[in-house]
Amino acid sequence: MCGIVGYLGDKDVVPLLVRGLERLEYRGYDSSGVAVVDGGLSIVKSVGKIKSLKDRLDGRRFPGRLGIAHTRWATHGEPNDVNAHPHTDCKGKIALAHNGVIENHAALKKLLLAEGHRFESETDTEVLAHLIERSLPGRTLGEAVSAALQLVEGTYGIAVVSADHPGTLVGARHGSPLVIGVGDGETFLASDGAPLREHTQRVVYLDEGEMVVIDEAGYRTFTIEGEAVDKQVDELNWDLEQIEKAGFPHFMLKEIHEQPDTVRNAMRGRLLREEGTAKLGGLNLSDDELRDIRRIVITACGTSYYAGLIGEYLLEEYARIPVEVEYASEFRYRNPILDEGTLVIAISQSGETADTLAALREARRRGATVMGIVNVVGSTVAREAGRGVYIHAGPEIGVASTKAFTSQVTVLALLTMHLGRLRVLSQAAGRALATELEALPGKIEKILAGAPAIKEIAVQMQHHDNFLYLGRGPNFPVALEGALKLKEIAYVHAEGYPAAEMKHGPIALIDENMPVVFIATRDAAYEKVMTNMQEVRARRGKILAIATEGDADIHALADYVIPVPATHDAFVPLLSVVPLQLLAYYMAVQRNCDVDQPRNLAKSVTVE
Ligand code: GLU
Repeated sequence: MCGIVGYLGDKDVVPLLVRGLERLEYRGYDSSGVAVVDGGLSIVKSVGKIKSLKDRLDGRRFPGRLGIAHTRWATHGEPNDVNAHPHTDCKGKIALAHNGVIENHAALKKLLLAEGHRFESETDTEVLAHLIERSLPGRTLGEAVSAALQLVEGTYGIAVVSADHPGTLVGARHGSPLVIGVGDGETFLASDGAPLREHTQRVVYLDEGEMVVIDEAGYRTFTIEGEAVDKQVDELNWDLEQIEKAGFPHFMLKEIHEQPDTVRNAMRGRLLREEGTAKLGGLNLSDDELRDIRRIVITACGTSYYAGLIGEYLLEEYARIPVEVEYASEFRYRNPILDEGTLVIAISQSGETADTLAALREARRRGATVMGIVNVVGSTVAREAGRGVYIHAGPEIGVASTKAFTSQVTVLALLTMHLGRLRVLSQAAGRALATELEALPGKIEKILAGAPAIKEIAVQMQHHDNFLYLGRGPNFPVALEGALKLKEIAYVHAEGYPAAEMKHGPIALIDENMPVVFIATRDAAYEKVMTNMQEVRARRGKILAIATEGDADIHALADYVIPVPATHDAFVPLLSVVPLQLLAYYMAVQRNCDVDQPRNLAKSVTVE
């Protein structure tokens, strides 16, 4: 998820690696480290900014010409010095940097412990170093890496060196990017082109399931199974800005487009399709304890609060547990009624939101069972809750949250299935949910492919200063989220309302200058929403409808239609929100707004 740099050549390796890490800083990270082969193996790591790594390196000389470096964005184990990469084997001879998640790390660790291996960190990564160690006897470093990776499930981009192989650098990729930089008498390895740019323009992009062995003779590429592959050398012609944003003009757009992957990551290794349920390791509550929950209170702020509102629909409908959703800032100033039968779920992307943290503390003080749904591993909410589910969305850099929202909803869906199956949900119904959940990333891809049409709608609507967003059922929170996105980044006044509430007030605002965005997918509320649309039409309001693919009727009422694929009623919000993110994005671009850093807003709100 974050950054890797590797080098074999004649230059002073440590400054070169550290400079490379700085080039990757934009990817977000919580700790960093370097390993140099210099006779033995020297490893220096530090939690926090690269500056603290530099402080630790200051004044030390490393004679080596081969090394690897890493910026970590923790997924397993808190950000601290020990969990920072590179990780090493029992003898301290192998050093390995890894981006991604080893899904079967628990089973592998058990096996390795039984064989006598000793572990130092809490990371999933460390198993890789020990697996390579046990594969090495009788093999080259490249062969050992290949043998080790064949036991691994999950995602990885890795860089490996060994004190016993002072002329070899090995890289491999499955799910996390890795690129080879081809220089004169020197070869580089990196997560993307940013660290390479100042050294060489010639790059080779590793594809999924490929690895590279770099030595004095240059580099050789293979499949992970060991079959040689010929790769073309490309020219690195992006400027730095583009590299950082993977070719997208803004982080927000990049993050919107990451959602097929991030939704997949949120359920990876957790969904049990056959049983129609989910396995959530971090809950630390027995099935009996989960059955004893009588009520759930979800507390959050902003976009996370809207994810919570969707969670309310899911949990009440499919797990039949009463749910209340409370703004964290309100929760703590009321006198909430909580007892040990209440589960309080705090949702926060950063895990540092001051209001959410305060609400969590208040809930715990009053004896409720608490858990977190958080993106940043080891953040304060995650630590203080003591139990919860990470959304694994990767660093979110755009201030307006997009991928974290869909990942939060995905995790709430998994939680719903888990609680539902312990109570009222049949296996068949659970399986129907699981099957559909698995299909969502492909459907999100399809919506994203329609982005140019959404841009065109934004071009036509850009001069409107007021919008109404309407939806019913679980699409009501989507209306709120769509309106919030438009306010946040395009500075356009927008209100989200339950569609049927319109006639109790906002209808007074409707005329030909008031665009109304309807979320009018073919679900339980469809007919009713169509009636509400008629009411707007009769008052000459301009209508943009998010509708299910193939719905021909809607064109009679709506001026603009954005289609989304059909899905299970439970998961419509995970699709219907995507065009609204894109609409807000393109509106902001049309209006020349600073998309990634909208005025007055902070990414993680650590003040009350
Ligand atoms: N899963 C690994 C860890 O938590 C790697 C995280 C990353 O991609 O930086 O240490």
